Amino acid sequence: MKIHEFQAKQVLARHGVPIPRGRVAATPDECAAVAAELGGGLCVVKAQVHVGGRGKAGGVKLAKTPDEARQMGAQILGMDIKGLTVHKVLVEEGIAIDKEIYLGMILDRDSKRIVVMVSAEGGMDIEEVAEHSPEKIARCTINPALGLTDYQVRHLCFGAGLPKDKVKEIAVFLKALYQAITQSDATLAEINPLVITKDGTLIAADAKMDIDENALYRQKELALLQESEENDPIEEEARRRGLTYVHLDGDIGIIGNGAGLVMTSLDVVAREGGKAANFLDIGGGAKAEVVRNALEVVLLEPKVKGVVINIFGGITRCDEVAKGVIDAAGKLDIKVPVVVRLEGTSVEEGKKLLAESGLNLVPAGSMREAAAKVVELAYAGGR
Ligand code: GDP
Ligand code: MN
Repeated sequence: MKIHEFQAKQVLARHGVPIPRGRVAATPDECAAVAAELGGGLCVVKAQVHVGGRGKAGGVKLAKTPDEARQMGAQILGMDIKGLTVHKVLVEEGIAIDKEIYLGMILDRDSKRIVVMVSAEGGMDIEEVAEHSPEKIARCTINPALGLTDYQVRHLCFGAGLPKDKVKEIAVFLKALYQAITQSDATLAEINPLVITKDGTLIAADAKMDIDENALYRQKELALLQESEENDPIEEEARRRGLTYVHLDGDIGIIGNGAGLVMTSLDVVAREGGKAANFLDIGGGAKAEVVRNALEVVLLEPKVKGVVINIFGGITRCDEVAKGVIDAAGKLDIKVPVVVRLEGTSVEEGKKLLAESGLNLVPAGSMREAAAKVVELAYAGGR
């Protein structure tokens, strides 16, 4: 989960990172007001969107007076940056930049550790530096038992060719960054640029953090920062209902129990010529209510022309699944064919319930048959 620059800066500030004074504004007038609060001198107006490279895209602008801040705000607010609309800007006191340094930490899935990267080529697109002059990025891996050590800090700073007289201060930033990434369950934390000002002080001019969504249950404060506008609304609804759902771009709804069975169902439907609208795993031991929720969520996608429910009962009981399907089908006005394949625990009870329900549910004896039937029925009226 991405958070905005101003939010990441707040997190870093709590760990002792100096950040420019400033505040978020949502209107041009508010930009002028914040600029005046900051003393009325040079300030910078920065688009708050979940994407990098805002500077190059025209989303970061300097203003010399509150009036100019208003103008810059008017230009940036509502702007489209890489497909995202700017609703908020951060207005901060301007910094007199001497040098720009890159500090970044990222969770490396191979080593299962945090990798630190430092470069004297700050302010630029670090991916570009990594591609064209990788030798300009110093890296090391942090052992979680030791944390970021002083010798690693020296190795990084000297390796990147940073000013020797600033190493002690940069160490403070790196240690704060490490504290922030670990304590916030972040998968990425970046200060780019870390600015050395003309009078020799250090300050974080930009900050970026991605939070591991799987840790949001224990990062209650950060979880509040999640913005739904950029997420898929059906996936959001599925999450609210506690379902494992991934929205895909086809038109056959798929429900199964167990990730492997659902993946296989997608494949088998594809082999029969259909295209999956989603992945939905109701998990093991699902009760009727979960099944009803699953069917409701799948049908939220208006493109869905047919649904296949593929259940292999182990811990999951087929009669429970049948009850859920019947419950949902009774409540919802389902206009598309629903093919149900049940196998395993309590399969006879399940099949009996479906047959006696009087609802338009199509039984299938095997996964292959279920896929063929749903594809045939869904596309009967054309694709
Ligand atoms: P990004 O392009 O999304 O990474 O946004 P940044 O916040 O990093 O801003 C891009 C560039 O704008 C920085 O590298 C700086 O060169 C410049 N910049 C940002 N804030 C200030 C500031 O307060 N003063 C000055 N002079 N330049 C700034
Ligand atoms: Mn930046």
